[in-house]
Amino acid sequence: MLSQEEQARYARHFSLQQVGVAGQEKLKNSSVLCIGAGGLGSPSCLYLAAAGIGRIGIVDPDTVELSNLQRQILHSQSSLGLSKLDSATARLREINPHVKVEQYACRFNAENAMEIASQYDVIVDGTDNFPTRYLSNDVSFFLKKPNVYASIFRFEGQLSVFAPHLGGPCYRCMLPDPPDAGSVPSCAEAGVLGVLPGIMGSLQAMEAIKIILGCGTPPLGRLIHYDALNTSFREFNLRRDPQCPLCGENPSITHLIDYQQLCRNTKPTNMMDNQDEISVEQLKSKLDEPFNGLLLDVREPWEYSAAHIDAARHIPMGDIPEFMPELKAMDDDQELLIICKSGGRSGRVMDYLVDQGFTNVYNVTGGMDAWSKL
Ligand SMILES: [Zn+2]
Repeated sequence: MLSQEEQARYARHFSLQQVGVAGQEKLKNSSVLCIGAGGLGSPSCLYLAAAGIGRIGIVDPDTVELSNLQRQILHSQSSLGLSKLDSATARLREINPHVKVEQYACRFNAENAMEIASQYDVIVDGTDNFPTRYLSNDVSFFLKKPNVYASIFRFEGQLSVFAPHLGGPCYRCMLPDPPDAGSVPSCAEAGVLGVLPGIMGSLQAMEAIKIILGCGTPPLGRLIHYDALNTSFREFNLRRDPQCPLCGENPSITHLIDYQQLCRNTKPTNMMDNQDEISVEQLKSKLDEPFNGLLLDVREPWEYSAAHIDAARHIPMGDIPEFMPELKAMDDDQELLIICKSGGRSGRVMDYLVDQGFTNVYNVTGGMDAWSKL
């Protein structure tokens, strides 16, 4: 039963046929686990609490830092230095005292994930790293809980709901192997405009609420892509992969695994055999001699301006195709050496160039991180 105060609070929901009093009671009796109280978790938690979800669990081990406030709107100046959980709990109580907030001051990991997630109806994945994302996918699959997924990169976001028990694929069907640890820049490296996680996290809250109410159509088997620069939404079909190691016909993953290890092991094959790699020591001795080739720094402009090797030519990764005619004009005997921060992005650029027919191309192992320790 809803109190008089609650009836007044949720009045705008009652006139919606899809919610009404019965729907509001469903929301009150439901629970959502938010993994992460950061950029995506902030708007999701805020809207879930405001909408009257009965119980919200939050997993986050971090404290509030100044650089969070540009996008993590759950936190404020006065909560700097507090745990994100305490900051979030205070804010959510302020918005809606009827919501019970449960705190998990830890990393979501293979040891605690099943126990924590089993206590919630829906999982909202607000993680910013691959190990936790695979973990949250696998846990949701084993527990048959809908996993509301979103991720962001620079000006682009994507959203889906993974719930093979309701139809559609899982995250592993879409991305069977995690990318190499160094190949995808983190938010800190890539930058993010604060509104973007705000939009994507709000979409996650909407999907979680729809699932609980049982109204509308969730994006099962659909990947929704938002391009903020062009203000466009596109949609891609995601198919369930019969060979998926988790939700496929002959699954090889039948329990939680070591997710850090999973993401460490995956590297492009050319990085395994080291044939196309050179060390920073080798790079240095090449540069000490007259060097008949090109050292290409593929990092972002702000990384380059912070520190770089004088001999390097700077072309950010995304601009490489534009410079292809120039690169192709190089002589075959000229070596093309590629460097980035830690060797991941440069490895991808190397793969791309090899695909384009380049043969004399090498990745600098360890990148500028290794160079700076010479
Ligand atoms: Zn799958």
